[in-house]
Amino acid sequence: MIAGQVAVVTGASAGIGEAVARDLAAHGANVLLVARREDRLAAIVEGIGDNASALALDVSQPDAAGTMLAAANERFGRADILINNAGIFRTGPLEAFDLANLAPMIALNYEAAVRASYVFARAMKAAGSGNIVNISSIGANLTAPGGGVYGGLKRALEIFSDSLRIELAGTGVRVGIVAPGSTATEIFDHIPSDRRPGSGAGLTPLEPQDIAYAVRFLVEQPARSNVPHLRIYSSGQQ
Ligand code: NDP
Repeated sequence: MIAGQVAVVTGASAGIGEAVARDLAAHGANVLLVARREDRLAAIVEGIGDNASALALDVSQPDAAGTMLAAANERFGRADILINNAGIFRTGPLEAFDLANLAPMIALNYEAAVRASYVFARAMKAAGSGNIVNISSIGANLTAPGGGVYGGLKRALEIFSDSLRIELAGTGVRVGIVAPGSTATEIFDHIPSDRRPGSGAGLTPLEPQDIAYAVRFLVEQPARSNVPHLRIYSSGQQ
């Protein structure tokens, strides 16, 4: 049961994170929505109601994890659920990949999720319960030309998550991975439509709420159960 629990969702101003935040709130959780765009967060929080609160923050900053935990404690009294969702997608062929993308991708897609996982897992372990879900990608297990940095960081996040899950076995704290396939969000907006991942014929992209449903499936498991990894492909995607 997630009703009454406190969830922190990163990257909650758009796409999958927004859908996850809305879905958890609709099922009775108190939700702290974290992202950089204050105006978008404010509009979403207003639409959800009293059980939502916004924190405008760049989660790739080194102290962001502590700031999120403190905000959850201050506004809702504790933190039961952490969804590390914020991420960016930058790829490109050998000649075109801008190496300036490397540091921000490492900082957000890997380091931010790792830092938040550590900070929240310590607090959850002390409390005796909690759920952490790290949003990966099916790209973590597909090697495609140009996708090595993004996929490699998601693979690293998966290995980290699995290791932490094992380390926390028996503590009441679960760590799970949800790995979406191609999902209709803003993440590919900077890429010409014919070069977006999964843009082939016959593909029906997933919708953000499909991923939210998968996240809730992990979090709602009874205490005796632990689902470590869900991969979700869109119809027609291989
Ligand atoms: P979107 O681009 O739609 O949304 C990304 C979210 O992350 C926004 O809320 C953005 O808000 C936030 N964000 C970006 N940078 C930062 C930052 N430095 N600090 C805080 N928040 C930040 O992406 P998706 O919803 O598509 O992606 C969500 C996750 O799902 C990512 O981890 C992505 O890798 C993964 N994924 C997505 C797939 C897809 O096909 N869409 C497929 C597989 C995985 P703001 O700009 O306001 O900060």
